[in-house]
Amino acid sequence: MRAAQLFNGRGTTSASPIGPTNHDAVPHATGASATDASSKDGESSKAKELLGIHHLITQYGNIQAIKGISIYIDKGEIVALIGANGAGKSTTLLSVSGVLTPTSGTIRFNGQNISGLPSHQIVRQGIAQVVEGRAILAGLTVLENLMLGAYIRSDRNAIEQDMDRMFDRFPRLRERSGQIAGTLSGGEQQMLAIARALMSRPKMLLLDEPSMGLAPLIVEEIFNLLRELNEQGLTILLVEQNAAQALEIADRAYVLASGTIVRSGSSSSLLADEHLREAYLGAAR
Ligand code: ATP
Repeated sequence: MRAAQLFNGRGTTSASPIGPTNHDAVPHATGASATDASSKDGESSKAKELLGIHHLITQYGNIQAIKGISIYIDKGEIVALIGANGAGKSTTLLSVSGVLTPTSGTIRFNGQNISGLPSHQIVRQGIAQVVEGRAILAGLTVLENLMLGAYIRSDRNAIEQDMDRMFDRFPRLRERSGQIAGTLSGGEQQMLAIARALMSRPKMLLLDEPSMGLAPLIVEEIFNLLRELNEQGLTILLVEQNAAQALEIADRAYVLASGTIVRSGSSSSLLADEHLREAYLGAAR
């Protein structure tokens, strides 16, 4: 399947964005926000902050996977979490989305303390997650998967309109709306997973390794899609092992190693960092 077919229709929906309803989101301005971010050196201005994680510790039994990290994401940003296998990237996302309950620390979203809330309440606050490996419901149809993404909503007419717009954005999903999701290609499944997350109309999207196992052309299309969604107001926290690719679309990034943050800054400053390039970007470049 060609990537162009997969996401055919991108760029035609600017008048009716699907998903991002962050009407007060700041416009995306990579250069300006990247510079601001590096000069702030890890400090968010509270007015712009959408997500603020403070001294987060998350454990599996007695093992601390996250050892007291603090990160923030401002409205309208794309922020990447990068690092090697087992660094704690997925654990961080799962802590934010309420799948895992943090041992200590606070997580604030849109001015509210969401630490320890169950996942369904966190979705209602405006956070949607695309988990590693996509986790679409393989035995259900494409349409049923999309409907599940809207389970927190009761505005039936608006859901139908969003579904239509979603199909305009992803015509391949329209063609396959009655098909069992497990029979889709890897790229189509990733597309469905993102589309399903957007059906909850999130303010922030958490994505865990969206490039995993996909051909380079499809990965490029997915990253283009993320950039476009961000331009329409969606704030994005992106976990990627493919650090070089993540830094290309992110405004800022945090580097995780063994559950701690070892570096952070604007993507441009991290890309220019010789040590970081050797440690994390060598294989990906
Ligand atoms: P990967 O890219 O491999 O998913 P990651 O940076 O996302 O890596 P995590 O999956 O968050 O890392 O794992 C962080 C640490 O927690 C690792 O040491 C991992 O072995 C451990 N871990 C993850 N899931 C569990 C679990 N369900 N039970 C016990 N330990 C876990």
